[in-house]
Amino acid sequence: MAGSRGRAQAGDPGGTPGTRGPGTPAVRTDWAVVGAGSAGCLLAARLSAAGHRVLLLEAGPSDRHPCVRIPALFHRLFRTRRDWEFWSEPEPALGGRRLFLPRGRTLGGSSSINAMVYARGRPSDWDDLAARGCPGWAWEDILPVFRALEDNARGASAWHGAGGPLRVEDPRSPHFLSLAFVEAACRAGHPRREDFHAGSPEGAGLFQLTQRRGRRWSSADAFLRPALRHPGLDLRTGARVLDLELEGDHVTGLRFLEGAQVRRVRAEAGVLLCAGAFQSPQLLLLSGIGDPAQLEERGLRVRHALPAVGRHLQDHPAVGLHFRAATRRTLTHADRLPGALLHGLRWLLLRTGPAASNVAEAGLYARSRADLPECDLEFHFAPAMYEEHGFRRPPFHGVSYGAAFLKPRSEGRVLLRSADPLEPPAILTNTLQHPEDVEALLASVRIGRELAQTEPLASFLEEELDPGPEVQEPSELEGWLRSRVELLYHPVGTCRMGPDPAGAVVDPRLRVHGLQGLYVADASIFPRIPGGNTHAPVLAVAARAAEWILGSA
Ligand SMILES: Cc1cc2nc3c(=O)[nH]c(=O)nc-3n(C[C@H](O)[C@H](O)[C@H](O)COP(=O)(O)OP(=O)(O)OC[C@H]3O[C@@H](n4cnc5c(N)ncnc54)[C@H](O)[C@@H]3O)c2cc1C
Repeated sequence: MAGSRGRAQAGDPGGTPGTRGPGTPAVRTDWAVVGAGSAGCLLAARLSAAGHRVLLLEAGPSDRHPCVRIPALFHRLFRTRRDWEFWSEPEPALGGRRLFLPRGRTLGGSSSINAMVYARGRPSDWDDLAARGCPGWAWEDILPVFRALEDNARGASAWHGAGGPLRVEDPRSPHFLSLAFVEAACRAGHPRREDFHAGSPEGAGLFQLTQRRGRRWSSADAFLRPALRHPGLDLRTGARVLDLELEGDHVTGLRFLEGAQVRRVRAEAGVLLCAGAFQSPQLLLLSGIGDPAQLEERGLRVRHALPAVGRHLQDHPAVGLHFRAATRRTLTHADRLPGALLHGLRWLLLRTGPAASNVAEAGLYARSRADLPECDLEFHFAPAMYEEHGFRRPPFHGVSYGAAFLKPRSEGRVLLRSADPLEPPAILTNTLQHPEDVEALLASVRIGRELAQTEPLASFLEEELDPGPEVQEPSELEGWLRSRVELLYHPVGTCRMGPDPAGAVVDPRLRVHGLQGLYVADASIFPRIPGGNTHAPVLAVAARAAEWILGSA
């Protein structure tokens, strides 16, 4: 079979030598899963458990690295070979600043480099999905999915599950400053939250974490490793998918690069794209699936017109307040010698202490305006200075906290830079282009400053460093915000789900509109960004996809 058919795909990918040509004879499988990240690990596990042959292709290396295991070191993986290290285009509303956009590039994907906060989004986010014409996605449909996935250390309840693959635990050694933040938020009038998942998350508390005994519990740990014993599961690392192969409207397989070899895969049941919100749309575009005008501009043959591919990119804009601490007992320098040796030893022996911290230990969900029906801000508190993604470390002790806006109105897009599959996509986030996003984050600064004046937190803070006490006028604050805002590592929306092919990429069962044998199941399918951290919502998406593919829902 292989080689007898001409390459039925989107023209020559061009660009980097070595990615051209039809490749070696095709590997046959039932399902090809692209990307062993949050979603891909779960899907590969579920399909192989049901007896299907599954080829799971991951571009990155294995996840065997201490900074993956040890929670507090996650930011040490940024700009290493386990991070794709994307950067946005110059952002028009940020004076041309480029934003750093880390993405996991290893087994577990971004769940191997993330901050481990367990969050599900607000119930209203899921009801909104159903209201957009996506049956099966309302909160009452999704709560059982979360419960079935979960192995919560607190045990089963109406809100939580026990015995599932995804271990969720309380922090083992919460820092006293994180507790002080929660206490200050409660004294400032916010409700105390023992559990952010019992109804609305509004209020202050400690986050639960995707950890097992003080160690990261990624999607690779929860789903992939136990599934490797399934005879039908073939996992390849260092396998970078280049594009999809089509025959008419049927996706028949794909091409991937392994070392210097281009290989072909014949996927008899279908292809599942789980490459994340930047690379799933990139792969569709490279395969000639997208906005025809855009494809033609890059010299790609149009195989299937779907204008929404790469559009509607959203992420949570977030801004941090930084304070010089009045105590030397912060985690700012916890990874420096000689203290790091002690912390490392304690973690190895007991799995407690600073090394077990996920840094963003405490949270507060609040409203940016009192007249809103529900919370639209999520604060993360770090008992350490966390500036510029952890790259900038002051010579003194400090703490950082700040809010992410959960309902951003600004939308960006992912485009191809060229037809070269090895070039990073051109990502424009349009952060803070919409005035409502600016208003909400300015309100978060007011709330944050109020907390800094409230005991018991106030006594531990010596000086506001950023924005700094001199920055008070609305115009000054807005200027500061535009110079400091970042994105909270939660991109979604670029292959959005919806019933209408004119405005969506996948249908409510995650099948790509108008094509046979192609699904997208990852963060890219959310038409509106969930109101909270996105790892667990992505797992719910993958679990739903598995149920539908296997016909069990
Ligand atoms: C630094 C950071 C901190 C975060 N903190 C939190 C948090 O505390 N809590 C939370 O809930 N969420 C957090 N998130 C977000 C969350 O981790 C992501 O939303 C989620 O992991 C996305 O899952 P995904 O399956 O869509 O993509 P990913 O998990 O990113 O998986 C995509 C996979 O596809 C692979 N891939 C891409 N292109 C190709 C290709 N061409 N060929 C082969 N393989 C390919 C990638 O290498 C990757 O392994 C964070 C994310 C980051 C980056």
